[in-house]
Amino acid sequence: MTSTDPTPSRVLVLNSGSSSVKYQLLDMADSARLAVGLVERIGEETSRLVHTPLTGGDKRELTGPIADHAAALKAVSEELAKDGLGLDSPELAAIGHRVVHGGLKFSAPTVITEEVMAEIERLVPVAPLHNPANITGIRTAQSLRPDLPQVAVFDTAFHTTMPEHAARYAIDVETADAHRIRRYGFHGTSHAYVSRETAKLLGKDPSEVNVIVLHLGNGASASAVRGGVCVDTSMGLTPLEGLVMGTRSGDLDPAVIFHLERVAGMSTDEIDTLLNKKSGLVGLCGDNDMREIRRRIDEGDQRAALAFDIYIHRLKKYIGAYYAVLGKVDAVAFTAGVGENAAPVREAAVLGLEELGLAVDGELNAVRSDAPRLISPEYARVAVAVVPTDEELEIATQTYALVRSGA
Ligand code: ADP
Repeated sequence: MTSTDPTPSRVLVLNSGSSSVKYQLLDMADSARLAVGLVERIGEETSRLVHTPLTGGDKRELTGPIADHAAALKAVSEELAKDGLGLDSPELAAIGHRVVHGGLKFSAPTVITEEVMAEIERLVPVAPLHNPANITGIRTAQSLRPDLPQVAVFDTAFHTTMPEHAARYAIDVETADAHRIRRYGFHGTSHAYVSRETAKLLGKDPSEVNVIVLHLGNGASASAVRGGVCVDTSMGLTPLEGLVMGTRSGDLDPAVIFHLERVAGMSTDEIDTLLNKKSGLVGLCGDNDMREIRRRIDEGDQRAALAFDIYIHRLKKYIGAYYAVLGKVDAVAFTAGVGENAAPVREAAVLGLEELGLAVDGELNAVRSDAPRLISPEYARVAVAVVPTDEELEIATQTYALVRSGA
């Protein structure tokens, strides 16, 4: 590169699932989004690519078979090229990959080498649904741009600071260690970003504030963040533990599993599917979309009302638990699809917690906005905030910072 060449500042963020790839292209010179999109139903006849250029031009949709991740990324590259943003551009600085499980080894974003790939592979037994898809995404991106730094940003990284007493299950230590059974936590990129943005909203440095972050999407998790450092989180060995989610049960007595095996005659795989895909809100009332649940409640639907109450009860228990873990709380931050949009959830979650200094102002809570904002009344001791998450921006920021540092 000559001195007149611009410093490459674009980062492609890839979030590869088993049959989908979500992507965003950002220019980190000004953190601007250039294009966003997704490919879904990869491997089926009815694959779909939806591409939205943000530099001008209309959203485009392509349907038809896309055989595998390599074909998907090639199609994405072709769409980006139509807007002059192709993956072969010298302006692309790096590709940042969301990797779900980084175990204990990866506490920070990491440039992907063969050693790193081997470790991600070694973690497949604890993340059988996610890590294989992430590996496929990385391999595909490597084959497209072998010269480019590829960076892994791990969902577990932010939680590696959890103290042993929060991370260990109370089971036989040798068994736990032999099989790497412990609480890892997930959604870490979001918890890191939101806890930092919450501090910013309060006009403070992250090191000065204690925050309870409630990431309520289809998957949901809570975390306790002391001075910018995660000290506890609700997801565990897998994303099944903790809050009631769209389709996952969250916490339950582990003996339910033996009971289903012995009494209901269900297989391990059937129980896995039951607890991960057919439980939570969908198991309780048939719907996992909070908008639909609220609509049904408004029509007097008792099952939807009970599902909502169970969801809120668990959420409230975690707020109380993390209040106790932190001792002093400066803010509770709601984020992700439900947390950012569902005012009734926010209201119900802190209802009755005035003695803990927590309250929500009805008018502020009803405001719809994409901006981080406070929804607690002025008198409340603890700030309650809505802080939109942006995992892609966080992945791009971490990726770019790492590449720029020359690590
Ligand atoms: P994920 O990334 O885990 O798939 P999201 O963070 O996008 O999920 O959240 C999706 C969920 O957010 C939906 O299932 C729905 O329950 C909820 N949601 C989205 N928009 C609204 C809204 N306007 N009101 C209430 N809930 C909403």
